[in-house]
Order: sequence, then structure tokens, then C-alpha cells
Amino acid sequence: MRKTVIAGNWKMNMTPSATRTFMETLAPMVKGKDKCDIVLCVPFVDIATAVEATRGTNIKIGAQNVHFEPKGAYTGEISAEMLKEVGAEYVIVGHSERRTYFGETDTTVNLRTKAALAAGLTVILCVGEVKEQRLSGITDEVVTMQTKLALADISAEELKRVIIAYEPVWAIGTGLTATPEQADETCGVIRRALAGLYGEEVAEATTIQYGGSMNDKNAAQLLSKTNVDGGLIGGASLKPDAFTAIVDAANA
Ligand code: PEP
Repeated sequence: MRKTVIAGNWKMNMTPSATRTFMETLAPMVKGKDKCDIVLCVPFVDIATAVEATRGTNIKIGAQNVHFEPKGAYTGEISAEMLKEVGAEYVIVGHSERRTYFGETDTTVNLRTKAALAAGLTVILCVGEVKEQRLSGITDEVVTMQTKLALADISAEELKRVIIAYEPVWAIGTGLTATPEQADETCGVIRRALAGLYGEEVAEATTIQYGGSMNDKNAAQLLSKTNVDGGLIGGASLKPDAFTAIVDAANA
């Protein structure tokens, strides 16, 4: 059985004090809803507060990026060891906003994934096509290539701590959502890529999320699909009610 994981990506939102209030509000709302893992990936400066505010709850905390070097002259960067020590358990790698605005490449996505895994973090690895690629009919090739390049030199054992997030770029923050059928089909393509790399059994055991304007209204339908094992949620993860409704859909 694959684990369903509902993860929030707060992006550049929420101060530490707002983080504390949010976590104290959310924790009782999702208490006991254990058919899915619940993760919130918060800004670096909010991690310590989030970890403290969620201690003893079923909410786990993650970061939104990690540098691939262990330490050194990389002004403004954060290492995997730093994240681990402050209490983060997860980290998003390769989000399309990092690929688009901050020069992230398939090579650096691979390096970051390896560094995070080596430090004991669980990686939420994002792949997804842009609108022109979907319209040109090359979505399958794009997500297969991104998946394979991101996972170069990563063992089947390490893959147990990798969650893949299929995030069509045209659906992120746009209010446009892939249809449940599109989400299921492309998550299935990613699963086949994993089967090619690691074999069927490993592919079947890997959690593949859908992300892209998932919300309280569309979550149930998206999550009902065989190949969709959870969600990576941006906007709706900033609202305790909407995020809880998505957790509820995963617990139904
Ligand atoms: C995301 O940032 O990963 C995301 C899916 O955002 P949104 O839910 O706002 O589209």
C-alpha cells in the first residue's frame, strides 16, 4: 500500500508569529486524521517555530529548497544538515518556481535530491510540463526525462524517502487544474518511468502526488484516481479550513 501524503507549500508567505497561530489552529482540526501523512513546507525562518508548535501532533514540517553542498561560501543558502538539525523532515526540490525564477536545472535538482537524502530528509521532488509542452503533446516525454534525470544515482532504498509531485506548470497558482483523468494519466507515466528505473514493485510503492490548484472543491475527485497518492498544495494550504478539507478528502 502506498502512503497518501497531503503536503502544503507555503511559498513566501507567513511570518514566524503567523506560523504559530496557523499551526495551533490547524492541529486540532486534523487530529486523528491518519489515513494520510500531513506535511507543511514553510519558509526557512518559520521552520523552528513550526516544529515547536506541531510537536506531538500529526503535522510534519518541511522546507522548500536545500543547497547541495554541505557547507561553505554559498551566501544565502541553507544546507541539508541545517534543515535536519532545526527539525525539518521533508524538503521540496525542483519546484517549477525555482526552475523558472532561480535557474534550477535537472542537474541541480539531482544534486539537491542527493544531498537531502544523504542528510536523512524526505524529498518531495517536483516535475511537470509547461503549457506549450502539453499542447505539443510531449508531456509524457518531459515528465519522464525530468524524473529520470532527477533520480540519477539514487538507489531503490533511497527512493523510499522520495515522493514525486506531478505539477503541471500551467496549473500552479492559476486556478486551472488538470482534470482528474489528466492527473491520473501523467502520474501513471511517472510511475512507468520509475518502473523502468527500479522495477514494478518499487514503482508501485512510490507516492506520486498531484499539484496545481488543488483545493477543497476538487481534491476528492483528484485523490480518487488510482495513480494520485496525495497532493502538493500551494494557495489552499494557507487556509486552515481549505487545507483540512483536503486532508478530509484523503481520509474519506
Ligand atoms: C505549488 O506551489 O506547488 C502549487 C501547486 O500551488 P497552487 O496549489 O497554488 O497551484
